[in-house]
Amino acid sequence: MRLNIAMDGPVGAGKSSIADAVARRLGILHLDTGAMYRALGLKALREGLDPGNEKDIVALCGRLDLQVRMGENGQKTLLDGEDVSSLIRTPEVSMAASTVSRYAAVRKRMVALQQELAAGQDMILDGRDICTTVLPDAPLKIYLTASAEERARRRWLEMKEKNSPETLEEVLRQVRERDEQDMNRPVEPLRQAEDAVLLDSTELTFDQVVDRIVGMAEAIRNGH
Ligand code: C5P
Repeated sequence: MRLNIAMDGPVGAGKSSIADAVARRLGILHLDTGAMYRALGLKALREGLDPGNEKDIVALCGRLDLQVRMGENGQKTLLDGEDVSSLIRTPEVSMAASTVSRYAAVRKRMVALQQELAAGQDMILDGRDICTTVLPDAPLKIYLTASAEERARRRWLEMKEKNSPETLEEVLRQVRERDEQDMNRPVEPLRQAEDAVLLDSTELTFDQVVDRIVGMAEAIRNGH
């Protein structure tokens, strides 16, 4: 059976690093779908476009030169042939990504790209609409979350390591702002799919979360 794992959850739930670790343990690939919306957000900012202008952003998305390379050393996101994997991690790009991802035409193109990438190989995908829209038939679906305070705290610690000046309060505000935007947009808002397993990591360690997902995936692989 094709082992596709679909994982959704709000900002800062740890989806990407958890999915990376799960992929390594299972020997499968990991597609971080947020990076694709981030690349479009970065391109909009670079071209001086307002992410809130749907017409401009949809046109930009139509001519977007985006490539995703997945490998053992993680994912590389290429925009116009340039590796932008680190550049897409700033708070400005995060907000722009959240804004451009509201548009139906943008989502349609990104979802098609993601389905194409996932079709030929075993893979874990993380994002906001993977269980509900991208891979509704995946054999394992997970909704990974944690309290807003805990998600902000983890993100803040990560940013501090990179010498980012944001205070914990600022990061919590950004987390709440993105939650609000991602959960209340009219097109494919973030929500837990009915048949997704809920994993609340507030009280769990990183390794405990990875172990649980790997355990469920192995049971599926072994036909249980
Ligand atoms: O997961 P990440 O924080 O990198 O995603 C950036 C933004 O892209 C999110 O805030 C969300 O608005 C959007 N996104 C989405 N659907 C996905 C992945 C990300 O709408 N599958």
